[in-house]
Amino acid sequence: MQKRRTKIVATLGPASSSPEVIEKLILAGMDVARLNFSHGSAQDHRERTELVRALAAKHKRRVAIMGDLQGPKIRIAKFRNQHVDLVEGNTFTLSNLHPNDEGDDTIVGIDYPSLVRDCRPDDELLLDDGRIVLRVDRVDEHAVYTTITQGGVLSNNKGINRRGGGISAPTLTEKDKADIKTIAELELDYVAVSFPRYGHDITTARELLEAAGSQAWIIAKIERAEAVADDAALDDLIAASDGVMVARGDLGVEVGDARLAGIQKRIILHARTLNKLVITATQMMESMVSSRLPTRAEVSDVANAVLDYTDAVMLSAESAAGQYPVEAVAAMARICLGAEQEPGTTKSKHRIGETFNRCDETIALSAMYAANHFHGIKAIVSLTESGHTPLIMSRIRSGVPIYCYTSHPATERRVAMFRGVYALPFDTNVVAWEAIGDTAVRVLVEQGHLKTGEWVIITKGDTPHDGGTNSMRIVCA
Ligand code: PGA
Ligand code: MN
Repeated sequence: MQKRRTKIVATLGPASSSPEVIEKLILAGMDVARLNFSHGSAQDHRERTELVRALAAKHKRRVAIMGDLQGPKIRIAKFRNQHVDLVEGNTFTLSNLHPNDEGDDTIVGIDYPSLVRDCRPDDELLLDDGRIVLRVDRVDEHAVYTTITQGGVLSNNKGINRRGGGISAPTLTEKDKADIKTIAELELDYVAVSFPRYGHDITTARELLEAAGSQAWIIAKIERAEAVADDAALDDLIAASDGVMVARGDLGVEVGDARLAGIQKRIILHARTLNKLVITATQMMESMVSSRLPTRAEVSDVANAVLDYTDAVMLSAESAAGQYPVEAVAAMARICLGAEQEPGTTKSKHRIGETFNRCDETIALSAMYAANHFHGIKAIVSLTESGHTPLIMSRIRSGVPIYCYTSHPATERRVAMFRGVYALPFDTNVVAWEAIGDTAVRVLVEQGHLKTGEWVIITKGDTPHDGGTNSMRIVCA
C-alpha cells in the first residue's frame, strides 16, 4: 500500500488534550502536534507534550511537536456583556484608556499603543479575521475613531489587522521571549514565529532559542502583507528560517482573500526552491469544527496544497476546539493519499540547470535523480545526523519513500514534518554504522515496506560523527 507522503500538523487544544483523543489523533495520522501559545498556560503545554511523547512511544510512532508563539497579535479587550452587535454606519472607538472589561457597542479597550501610531484616516481595520470591518475617521494620542462599514457580532479579545499591513510592533513580545524558554525546556522540535517581517526577526528568535539551549527548527509564519510584497522580501524571510507556514488566517486579512491562492502557490514554490519546509495552514477543514464530513471545497483545498507539493497541511480549530478532531485528521490523511495518486506529484524536473555548493547536496540530488529514473528503486535509506540530507532529497518530487536513519531522537522527530520522509522503523543505536544500511534493507523487507528483489539507494557519510553524506550505493533487497 502507498504510504502517505504529505504530513499532518494538528493543533492541540481543549478538544484534544485527553490521553484518549491524543492517542486517536496519533493513530489517525498526526505527524506533528502544534501547541498554540496564544492560548493555554505553560503547564497545559507541558502536559500535552508529555502525553504526545508517551503515546507516540507506546505506538512506536515519531511525532514532532511545534510550539507556535503568539507574536504581536493586536487584540481588543473585553466587553461588559462578552459580546456586542455592531451596526453598519455607527461609530466605534478603539481606546488605549478605556477600562479592559467595560467595552460596549460604541467603544472597547485595546492594550496596544502602537496601533494609534500606525493608523491613518481612511485605513481599514479588520476584526475577527475580517468578519468586522472598520474605517478609520481620525486618530488621536489615545484612540482610533472609526465608522463600522461591515457589522456583526464581535466578542471578547478578537484580533485586529490593518488592510495592507504596516503595524510596526516588534515581532517578539515579552510573552514570546518567556515562551521561548518554555519551548527550550520542553525540548520541542519546532518553533513557529508569528508575524515576522524580515529575516532579521528570525535571526533574533534563533539567538534567543540558542541562548535558552534549544535546537528547535524555526518556522516563519508568512502572515504580513510586507512579507509577500515582493520576491526579495519573501526570500529574505524564507532564507533565514528552516521552514515557513502559509498562515492564511492573518495573511488573507492583510492581503485580501482574493490574492491568497496565488500567493500560497508562490510561497510553496519559493520555500522548496530554497531547500526549506512549508506548511499550509488555516481553515483547511473549517466546517469539520461542527460537521463529520468536509465540504467538497475543503477536500479540494487540501488536495490542491498536496498537488502544490506542500510538506504538511495543518488543522487549527478543527482539531483544537472542534467536535470531530480525530475525524478531521483521518479525513486529511485520506485526501492527501488520494491526491498523491496523481502522477504529476511524483514527477520532477530535477533542477537541471542547478549547480551545487555542498557534497551532501550533490549526493542527495543525485540519489533522487537515480530514484526517479531507475524504476526498480522502491526505497531510499539516508543515514544522517541532522536530517539535512533527507531534507534536500524531499524537496524533489518523487514517489519513492525516503527512510531516515539517525542516532539522534530529535532528528527522528524532526523529519516527521518532511514530505515523503520517515524515520526507519527500528531502534537506533543497536547496529554498527557500517552495517546499518544493510540492516535497514532487511528490516524494511521484514516489516513489509519492501519486497525481495526490489532496489534500494543507501546514502551515508564514511564515518558517523563527522557529518557529511558523501556516498551513495544501490543494492538489491
Ligand atoms: P494563527 O496563525 O492561527 O496563530 O493566527 C495562522 C494563521 O494566521 O493563519
Ligand atoms: Mn496568524
